[in-house]
Amino acid sequence: MNSNIIPQKFLFLVLFALISEILAGQNAGSAQNMQWKIHDMSRPKPPVVQPVDQLLPAHVPQNAISLFDGSGFSNWVGSDNGNPKWKIEKDYMEIVPGTGAIQTKESFGDVFLHVEWASPDEPDRKGQDRGNSGIFFMGMYELQVLDSYQADTYADGQAGALYGQAPPRFNVCKPRGQWNAYDISFRRPRFSSDGKLLTKARITVIHNGILIQDNEEYWGPTSWLKFLPYKVHGDKLPISLQEHNGRVRFRNIWAVSLPELPGPDKSYGSKTIRLNQKEIVKFTGIYNRPGTHAPITITMKNGKLFGDFFYRPGPLELLPLNDHQFVLKETDAIVTFEIDNKGKVTGLVFHIGDDDMPAKKDKN
Ligand code: MG
Repeated sequence: MNSNIIPQKFLFLVLFALISEILAGQNAGSAQNMQWKIHDMSRPKPPVVQPVDQLLPAHVPQNAISLFDGSGFSNWVGSDNGNPKWKIEKDYMEIVPGTGAIQTKESFGDVFLHVEWASPDEPDRKGQDRGNSGIFFMGMYELQVLDSYQADTYADGQAGALYGQAPPRFNVCKPRGQWNAYDISFRRPRFSSDGKLLTKARITVIHNGILIQDNEEYWGPTSWLKFLPYKVHGDKLPISLQEHNGRVRFRNIWAVSLPELPGPDKSYGSKTIRLNQKEIVKFTGIYNRPGTHAPITITMKNGKLFGDFFYRPGPLELLPLNDHQFVLKETDAIVTFEIDNKGKVTGLVFHIGDDDMPAKKDKN
């Protein structure tokens, strides 16, 4: 046997191991990026769940804008920018096939929307042809409306789906003719001033009292058969209701525009100063709060003052505002030390919110 064969064999094995490693790495990467194909019939169907008993039509909150109360289409325009050609009966509107979508006159960005809808009595129709409509936030992000009661279709096209993207967690559809309720929180996408996507559109949906979408992200605007990328658009746009050849009914539609939570401006926060070790050491000690067994302990470490407050797992840093007042680093709370006319620290008051908690310094 030629002795050269062994190293060659060994080299081959090493190469084989290396290539396997690289391929395994590539597979791991592609698994991470994997997503379902649009309308994949093998995608698991949402489990059927009984609706929660609710009093419908739901009460309209005082801060809501009523978009439809059964009295007319005054808040809506039709597909030709004229009056909607859908019909109104009793307290509901009903889609007239062939007349196109309708949209709100008012524009919305972040919004809470309540919609009640009922599937038409069209038992011979199947799948996506059965009571199909949809609520399009900003005219482009659809929340699917469909008769999914004892009906079969792809998971990402069922009632409560982000159409073609995300199925609902549960199928809570009521039988044809009965009123369903959607309570929806929609968050618009955010774009930078130069048009780059910062955050995607998101939606939370409660269907008949059951959470079916939990802060789910839209991959992009709703489209058919193909993913569409986000494109910069306005902060507020109308909500539209889809016409898809089915006589779906809607009633009691109202919206609450969701405000941005205010953030602090640049001048926010207390101005702190620096005190040296000599100026703060006198504050250290135990401070007893009258009527409690929960004292406040003030300590010093590396030239900084800390407060060990009751029910806290550890000391919190105190930042000086002046020679006897300190603010907590993360909480809007102030510790004011009391000093007598001989310059001796006798106690403190811990101010937090509307509460002033006095404490006397332990003489020991
Ligand atoms: Mg639809």
